[in-house]
Amino acid sequence: AGGGGGPAPDSGVQVVVRIRPPCRVEEEEDARAPDLCVRKTATNSVAIQGQDFTFDAVADEVSTQEDIFKLVGLPLVDNCLSGFNSSIFAYGQTGSGKTYTMWGPLSALSEDSTCSERGLTPRVFEQLFSRIKEIYNEQITDLLDPSPKSLQIREDVRTACVYVESLTKELVFTTKDVTQLLVKGLSNRRTGATSANADSSRSHCVFTCVIKSESKNLEDGSNSTRTSRINLVDLAGSERQKLTHAFGDRLKEAGNINRSLSQLGNLINILAEISHSGKQRHVPYRDSKLTFLLQESLGGNAKLAMICAVSPSQSCKSETLSTLRFAQRAK
Ligand code: ADP
Ligand code: MG
Repeated sequence: AGGGGGPAPDSGVQVVVRIRPPCRVEEEEDARAPDLCVRKTATNSVAIQGQDFTFDAVADEVSTQEDIFKLVGLPLVDNCLSGFNSSIFAYGQTGSGKTYTMWGPLSALSEDSTCSERGLTPRVFEQLFSRIKEIYNEQITDLLDPSPKSLQIREDVRTACVYVESLTKELVFTTKDVTQLLVKGLSNRRTGATSANADSSRSHCVFTCVIKSESKNLEDGSNSTRTSRINLVDLAGSERQKLTHAFGDRLKEAGNINRSLSQLGNLINILAEISHSGKQRHVPYRDSKLTFLLQESLGGNAKLAMICAVSPSQSCKSETLSTLRFAQRAK
């Protein structure tokens, strides 16, 4: 259907745009102004208001959770099992489908583990469990123990590892173990929304899985351990956090979200530039807590995928354009 072009240039970052299906109200409104709605024009491009954008792939309302897993999840699991770090970020305005993409509806997690609506995270674990024997799971924002405590990010000087101090760690054996942890964590995230100041549109949710694999060298009988990480990140809503009616802590928080998302964007641009030019340059990991925490999983041989979620609706046009521009800069 026209539009698009050749493949997007390879920056080492896989960028996928996902347009969620319209809800009923949107359908009615959008029928009156189709040009203002974002639409898929080829396997890897979209158009909105006469402007074309090209990425690695575009998923639209007919794309399933399984399609997204095959496109983004599976290659990263393979990469991780080969000993490299991998991260998947979901970026986009509130309501665009980030959480749906990363986890799926809570009901799909708790009731029926084969529910077709389950998202990337449970699918990544199913794949891992079918491929490896032992796994450790760490939850970075401590959604597994929501009692108020101040978690500090620390750096182990000896190993140069970055970690969160006194975070709950759970050893898991089956996909079901993980699913139960996910449900617990995600319900705590919800509770947090009403009791505290952090609903899901104003916080990043990071799920990190550390995979340690041991192998025995058959020639000399020595053991070697390989560790890799997979980060599954549901970012805070990318809509410009309003500073107008905020004050005090809320104002500070809004500023922090804007800043941490733009710093993540900067960092990805720099990594993309390094990948294009082959030249080394300073990567500002320490500019925000999010990038500092994830630094070992971002540079070097790490694989990065960014799923940019957009709403199909004309009422979201300006946020959709800004998400598409963000996505474009990562290539
Ligand atoms: P976000 O996390 O970006 O704020 P959500 O993932 O909560 O957005 O999605 C908003 C609403 O749209 C939810 O009701 C969700 O179930 C629905 N939704 C999002 N993406 C899809 C999709 N691809 N298919 C069906 N429903 C979706
Ligand atoms: Mg969400």
